[in-house]
Amino acid sequence: MHCRRFVASWLVVLAAVLTHCRSATAADSDSGYQVGVARVEITPSFPVRLSGYGNRATEATEVEQPLFAKALAIRHGDAAPTVLVTVDTLGVSAAMTEAVAARLKQEHNVPRANVAVCASHTHSAPALPSVAALIFSPKLTPADHLAHMRQYEAELTKKLGDVAVAACEKLQPAQLAYAYGTAKFAINRRALKEGKWSGFGVVPEGVVDHTLPVLVVRDADGKKLRAVLVNYACHCTTLGGSFNKIHGDWAGCAQEQLEREHPGVTALVSIGCGADANPEPRKDDLTIVRGHGDQIAREIGRLLKSDKSWTPIAGPITAAREEFALPLAELPTKAEFERRAATKGPIAYHAQTQLERLAAGKSLPTTVPYSAQTWQFGNALAMVFLPGEVVVDYQLRLKRELDAKRLWVNAYANASPCYIASKRVLAEGGYEVDGSMYYYDQPQHFAPEVEDTIIERVRGQLPKSYAASVRWEAEIAKIEARDRETPPPTGGIVFTGSSTVRMWKLEEGFSDLPVVNHGFGGSQIVDAVYYFDRLITPLRPRQVVLYSGSNDLNSGKTPEQVHRDFLAFAKLVREKLPEAKLTYLAIAPNPKRWSQIEKQRAANGLIKQSIAEMKSDKVEFVSLEEHLLLKTGEPQPALHLKDMLHFNDAGYEILNRVVRPHLE
Ligand SMILES: [Zn+2]
Repeated sequence: MHCRRFVASWLVVLAAVLTHCRSATAADSDSGYQVGVARVEITPSFPVRLSGYGNRATEATEVEQPLFAKALAIRHGDAAPTVLVTVDTLGVSAAMTEAVAARLKQEHNVPRANVAVCASHTHSAPALPSVAALIFSPKLTPADHLAHMRQYEAELTKKLGDVAVAACEKLQPAQLAYAYGTAKFAINRRALKEGKWSGFGVVPEGVVDHTLPVLVVRDADGKKLRAVLVNYACHCTTLGGSFNKIHGDWAGCAQEQLEREHPGVTALVSIGCGADANPEPRKDDLTIVRGHGDQIAREIGRLLKSDKSWTPIAGPITAAREEFALPLAELPTKAEFERRAATKGPIAYHAQTQLERLAAGKSLPTTVPYSAQTWQFGNALAMVFLPGEVVVDYQLRLKRELDAKRLWVNAYANASPCYIASKRVLAEGGYEVDGSMYYYDQPQHFAPEVEDTIIERVRGQLPKSYAASVRWEAEIAKIEARDRETPPPTGGIVFTGSSTVRMWKLEEGFSDLPVVNHGFGGSQIVDAVYYFDRLITPLRPRQVVLYSGSNDLNSGKTPEQVHRDFLAFAKLVREKLPEAKLTYLAIAPNPKRWSQIEKQRAANGLIKQSIAEMKSDKVEFVSLEEHLLLKTGEPQPALHLKDMLHFNDAGYEILNRVVRPHLE
């Protein structure tokens, strides 16, 4: 161990504690919030194995960067505080979180749902025997290594309780606000061949979420910054398996950099659903890992410079937590485990462990215990906590189905059961489905129902006002009432999307075809996804025509988001209406939003490319731009109403002519 570094970091801790112990400012906060901030160093003081990579066989004896656990206790009015602990470690076990919750209950009467512990998933922190239990087969781990791991886990568990309690004892009036930034170093790591897993890779076209949610705590008058909590959906694995020193990886570097740039501030990092994303580049190179931390610190610096980026948080905190079981697929037979036990490596250790259980008269689990937890801060923000290594599909789906502008998803929270694959990832197979389950001592991969189960539990904890599309409820109900009065044809052609569809006199333009107009003004693709089962499915159409995307871009969504939302819509059509054809009408240029033309073209381009790659005659892309622009390449005011946004009759005449050959 580097003793010098060890002493220096304790000085930093002491300075931070002194800052936070200053008495509360005289002015009471209007926000009604009180926040306590605490930190404790958790760098081991003895040699210990590091976890995350299975190949490291010797104990780490050097500290390249100290490790920390930090806590925010947030109380509104006289209610019990909610306490968030972040920790530089691979993961925490359910038992560790329960121990923290028990301390908080005993010492500050904090309810269980108000306690969350989020791991950074650094792969350069001490191994905990209760997390990824079979990553090093305990039977093959030298007794002294195991003793050190156990000692560290016991010490860490106590310190997590200490830091949580300390935060509750430092409550001071505070203001809270949040913002969303962007960081781009997370890259999808699942290489696929013909839709199936082919190995780890760097897959820039794969799904990721580059959003960087940031929460800041300021003092009562809103001037002094006290703490910054940032979340990013990416593995904390810039440093690889040949790096065998204590380090917080990019999450540690982000904290270090933020605290250096903002003296007196405590920086905390939680991880989103980044189980299938790796940092890029990835190398045992401290310059690169610092660079990733620096990207986050720089983005937060940029956000802090602009008042406009921040949404203030107000209102009481509502915490909810449920435990439930996630089903595994049918277990392998005893004979299959016997076959695997005769091989070598992790698969053999795993099979031997299962066989020992069976020999001892125990049955193997067919489900995995899980939990979903949410904190709502008034109507401003909802935070979700999901245990385990959750793939990005969960975060993206929650953001589609709930109000993405008020949502924050923490994974690697409260427990480390295993990877949590989605329906899509389960169908593709690979490491996050099977290969990782051996290390986590799970007897089988998940059944596909896990995705809907988790999403439904989270949605069930949040009020209806968090649903993405609640603002359209009245309009949808009107369409349904109209359909009940005059039932539209089934098996016809349903147009859906935004006001360009709603205002389109389809029955006049296509009087010879069974067209149905289910457009709803101002809507985005996510809304068409959300209402799919009410507006589209019941009509069993032979063709679905979607015009949507312009409002999405206008609301600040990126072309990539619009593209992803389109893919979600296309997936619904394929799943729910396998016989139907989907026609996507490209985002059309108009004078009002002419400044967004490049974004519109980018979104159209991504969607067009995906449709081409689908190689199916059941989905097509219809370009509109070339039919609507003047020869000079500019939009034609003569085709638009006074608002210069919507088409007039002349505009729709062109649309009718262009679209007709595509209707079946
Ligand atoms: Zn991982």
